[in-house]
Amino acid sequence: MILVTGGAGFIGSNFILNWIAATGEPVVNLDKLTYAGNLENLVSLKQDARHIFVHGDINDRTLVSKLLEQHRPRAILHFAAESHVDRSIHGPEDFIQTNITGTFHLLEEVRAYWQSLAAAEKNAFRFLHVSTDEVYGSLGADDAPFSETTPYAPNSPYSASKAASDHLVRAYHHTYGLPVLTTNCSNNYGPYQFPEKLIPLIMLNALNGKALPIYGDGMNVRDWLYVGDHCDAICAVLAKGHLGETYNIGGWNEMTNLDVVHTVCAILDKLHPDSPVTPHASLITYVKDRPGHDRRYAIDARKIEQELGWKPKENFETGIQKTVQWYLDNMQWVENITSGTYQKWVDKNYGGR
Ligand code: NAD
Repeated sequence: MILVTGGAGFIGSNFILNWIAATGEPVVNLDKLTYAGNLENLVSLKQDARHIFVHGDINDRTLVSKLLEQHRPRAILHFAAESHVDRSIHGPEDFIQTNITGTFHLLEEVRAYWQSLAAAEKNAFRFLHVSTDEVYGSLGADDAPFSETTPYAPNSPYSASKAASDHLVRAYHHTYGLPVLTTNCSNNYGPYQFPEKLIPLIMLNALNGKALPIYGDGMNVRDWLYVGDHCDAICAVLAKGHLGETYNIGGWNEMTNLDVVHTVCAILDKLHPDSPVTPHASLITYVKDRPGHDRRYAIDARKIEQELGWKPKENFETGIQKTVQWYLDNMQWVENITSGTYQKWVDKNYGGR
């Protein structure tokens, strides 16, 4: 049994679906169901006893303690977070509450549980903290990619809150011996991503003939990784990672935002020629830059590749093709989360939230 936090979100739900399919090991999924949590992602597991969903907050220590005692997980995979940079600029408080205070409360309960375990279980136990490359700050065009020894220099409330949580996790290892692992991954894309993030936002606006907003000059660079590859990397770190270590995860796939948008538009031109406005790229509209917008992120993923033998299976071409096709095949999913139907579905199936 493992305990996943934030398992109704984009990466967490992909992780649970892949995990149960690959290992069959049961998962307790603790999720607050914020706007980003979507149980419809996990509807295929609704009748599956290997997925136990618990609606709750990682700040609720009584609940976390009860879940640990009841289910006795061998590992915690901590995905729960507020994750959208733009939201963190407009309202940072939730980011502090969940990403920093929430991680602290979770660590406290996990520490007490871990200390109560018998020696063999204690040795085997793992706390894996899922984090982001944004903690390293911004690179210049000629700088070397982020490695695990790059100093932290977060620039947004989101990345600052994730950096703080990474430091807490590190401290619980050094101070209390808690067996932790931390992963810092680049931008993910793939099925079930909430349509506020760049790729689904662009795709859905393009399909509806709406403007495709590009911050600034569109030349900000990000590394992109298919979500399934991120999930595989997390499994590799959980199974083989060295305690107390961090692992950078990336796709060796740096692209400007403008290139990403052009790629999505070109795929849609082929797959969906009936959109109201084509070519889709004619909808590109430059908008005022995000305050403090980091110019470039890039990941040096050699450590996880060499030490743990992980490599991404998808390149951007194959991954983005699959992703666009997934959204085209699942327009009802999009419709449900954007129209409020999802809330009714949760009320009907789970008695509200
Ligand atoms: P997401 O926003 O899609 O999902 C977050 C989930 O956490 C949601 O289901 C939400 O309901 C839940 N949650 C929020 N606050 C909670 C709380 N207090 N208690 C319990 N559950 C809570 O995020 P995501 O994109 O799936 O990211 C998951 C993790 O991966 C995050 O920690 C994020 O920082 C990290 N990450 C994301 C990316 C990316 O590109 N999306 C890249 C690298 C790392």
